[in-house]
Amino acid sequence: MLVTSMEKSQSHVVIFPFPLQGHIKPLLCLAELLCHAGLHVTFVNTRHNHNRLANLRALSAHFPTLHFESILDGLPDDHPRTLGSELLIALKTSIKPHFKELLQSSLKANSVALPPPTCIITDGLVTFAFDVAEELGLPVLSYNVPYARYMWTCLCLPNLIEQGQLPFPGDDMNVEITGVPGMEGLLRRVDLPGFCRVKESSHPGLQFAIHEAQTQKRASALILDTIYELDASCLSHMANMFPKIYTLGPLHSLLHSQIGDVSRSLASHGGLWKGDPNCMTWLDSQPTKSVLYVSFGTLVTLTRTQIIEFWYGLVNSGHPFLWVVQSDITSGIGEDPIPMELEIGTKERGYIVNWVSQEEVLAHKSMGGFLTHSGWNSTLESIVAGIPMICWPNLGDHYIISRTVCEKWKIGLRLKENCDRKDIETMIRMLMEFKRGEIQSSMDSISKVARDSVTNGGSSNHNLQMLIQDIGNMHA
Ligand code: UDP
Repeated sequence: MLVTSMEKSQSHVVIFPFPLQGHIKPLLCLAELLCHAGLHVTFVNTRHNHNRLANLRALSAHFPTLHFESILDGLPDDHPRTLGSELLIALKTSIKPHFKELLQSSLKANSVALPPPTCIITDGLVTFAFDVAEELGLPVLSYNVPYARYMWTCLCLPNLIEQGQLPFPGDDMNVEITGVPGMEGLLRRVDLPGFCRVKESSHPGLQFAIHEAQTQKRASALILDTIYELDASCLSHMANMFPKIYTLGPLHSLLHSQIGDVSRSLASHGGLWKGDPNCMTWLDSQPTKSVLYVSFGTLVTLTRTQIIEFWYGLVNSGHPFLWVVQSDITSGIGEDPIPMELEIGTKERGYIVNWVSQEEVLAHKSMGGFLTHSGWNSTLESIVAGIPMICWPNLGDHYIISRTVCEKWKIGLRLKENCDRKDIETMIRMLMEFKRGEIQSSMDSISKVARDSVTNGGSSNHNLQMLIQDIGNMHA
């Protein structure tokens, strides 16, 4: 049954992202897609992030059914709000009660302009939303930002403990992990996230991760930013655990396919930092497929030694590079002066910038490779743009992503964790020169699968229609 526009206009979805850049952007994409289909969406941010996204609210005039709300996180103004225990505590102590109040008042205020909420789409990391939604009798759909194979692995952690595969001694990290169906031959101890590298299965970090993953099972559906065809081996198993799974990836590409004019997309402007437009002029001046783009996302921090090693590796590789160096990274530089040859090498063929419009950069014709921390958003953006990667995973789902990218899809090369300038230089030359043709050819195939999935008849496009229809039916 198709959803009528009348039903659509009565649907009101409340979306709450975990308050970090890598979570806000994909959920904004989803919000836009739902609004584009005529649904009302209330997008809830913490007040701190809401204020940083002021430019975005100006653009939202194009989306009359999109409403922004903000709630206090209880942290001091100058708090860095990076991923850590203080932010997690703030979620439970301050954000949760404010979120509940907000929902209660929207349930009461039944206006024509904004009907009461039909359901909540919560970020999978915001697990308190399950309690709040259940208390208020609202269905909750869980949007999981981390990569599907990582999530599936987290769901299988109790089995791994039962089978004696977890915890493991730290001596041989290359031992295969066999208890995650669909990941046979792929997963090793070293690919598991940091909270698995513990001595006791009762370790609070591991138990917390298990609890958070199991909480997802309370969702009436799971939404994933992944492409069914690329992760079917795991998704087919996950389907037995959830009433419904909607794979909508690559979400940013799905959004572009629906709204056409990317300049009007809120998500494209959904950066918590301001970009440097001059870097596009610099890219224009570079030869086709010559530039290595370098970004370690918004959460990874580097020591001074790591920064200097990467810097030497980049300069010594001889390839032009565009490097996003966030202020958090710069603080790792310390007071000591930067070696002169790095300053000179950067002037000759590098461009260092605080923030860029990453999708735009990756789509630029000068792009030849991406040195990345293997965050899932960055990986998907690279796949859509068809740019081969060097993966330097650092935390959470990065290890499983880089393993899949390098060993399964063969669209990237893995840089070892404790790398020095020589390793970095060698890896850049491998990607940009010796292995270029081979990796680019695999990338072209994977990229095609991803891009096809968002076109008419593609799996993600179809799942989006199903999601819209199912939300419409929730209050029918
Ligand atoms: N990003 C950006 N400009 C930058 C650096 C990052 O727009 O200069 C965006 C990038 O496009 C991606 C997000 O920030 O959408 C980073 O998400 P990811 O999952 O890759 O990593 P995280 O920051 O969550 O570790």
